[in-house]
Amino acid sequence: MQQAIKADALQIEGLSVAAQIGEKSYKALDGVTLSVARGEARGLVGESGSGKSLTLRAVMGLLPANLTVTAGAIRFDGRDLLGDGGKLLHEVRGTGISMVFQEPAVALNPVMKVGRQIVDGVAWRRGLSGRQAKELAVELLAQVGIKDPARWVDAYPHQLSGGMRQRVMIASAIASKPDVILCDEPTTALDVTIQAQILALFKALKTDLGAGLLYVTHDLSVVAEFCDSLTVMYAGRTVEQSDDLGALIASPAHPYTRSLLAAVPRIRGPIRRLRGLSSSAPSLTERDQKPAPALVACGPGRQVAPFTAEDERFFARDEEV
Ligand code: ADP
Ligand code: MG
Repeated sequence: MQQAIKADALQIEGLSVAAQIGEKSYKALDGVTLSVARGEARGLVGESGSGKSLTLRAVMGLLPANLTVTAGAIRFDGRDLLGDGGKLLHEVRGTGISMVFQEPAVALNPVMKVGRQIVDGVAWRRGLSGRQAKELAVELLAQVGIKDPARWVDAYPHQLSGGMRQRVMIASAIASKPDVILCDEPTTALDVTIQAQILALFKALKTDLGAGLLYVTHDLSVVAEFCDSLTVMYAGRTVEQSDDLGALIASPAHPYTRSLLAAVPRIRGPIRRLRGLSSSAPSLTERDQKPAPALVACGPGRQVAPFTAEDERFFARDEEV
């Protein structure tokens, strides 16, 4: 099908990643395909272990050592990030594309002042003086809603609350004014009030920076509130996606998506979290070894993975649980 013309900043096409476990190689990702345009917030959902984090890590060139990309392309503004011995990836990482991790406590350096962590890379690239770098750090802290930023710029991560640490990580991710921000469940570790504040911050950033967001979450209320488009993953594959979130929610095409959305109460009111569904997904070692079939168009800006009558029965069983 002719794809709608959309200036995608990030395109992932047919991305496959193999995991080496002992003597054997397993498919951790199999033909993952999705794209993110500037100014777009794309939700990425799927049960735990479906490959969401690995997809983001592959884009950042941060796969664990026993995992390798075996097929596919990752393009930034049409240029292949995987080619050229990783040179372009190195250039784009942290400038054109940045990532916000789930656990700021792990991602931040415990022995570096937060201000310096936020601007180190940018200051180096732009040749800023120490004073200019600090001014920029204060500005960024203010931008992510930290009150009295001049006071906190010289603090260490352990002196901050969880919510503040997550803001620091977001400040660090936006310091270079990236075109695409990859967010891996960035509010999961936070309490509900702080979650709402951080989400409001992401909303503002999307508008103010015009960045494209790829937003991994297991919270469908976040998707409904915040995302323009949605990609659904299952067992390392893209099973369904739509540039228009509403169209997908209104009529999911894949039986897995239907079972996923069945977790959402059909009454008006806040949408609940995704149900576990964990029993249904094959583990890495049980997965289909045949290559993933290509996605097929099923509407404007919409694609679905082919499925069998057996798949339908399998996922329908989940719906009844
Ligand atoms: P998600 O973020 O959707 O919960 P992940 O992307 O973290 O899932 O993981 C996808 C699959 O890859 C999981 O089944 C996980 O067990 C496997 N995996 C992740 N990291 C490794 C690793 N270093 N070695 C082997 N398998 C891994
Ligand atoms: Mg994950």
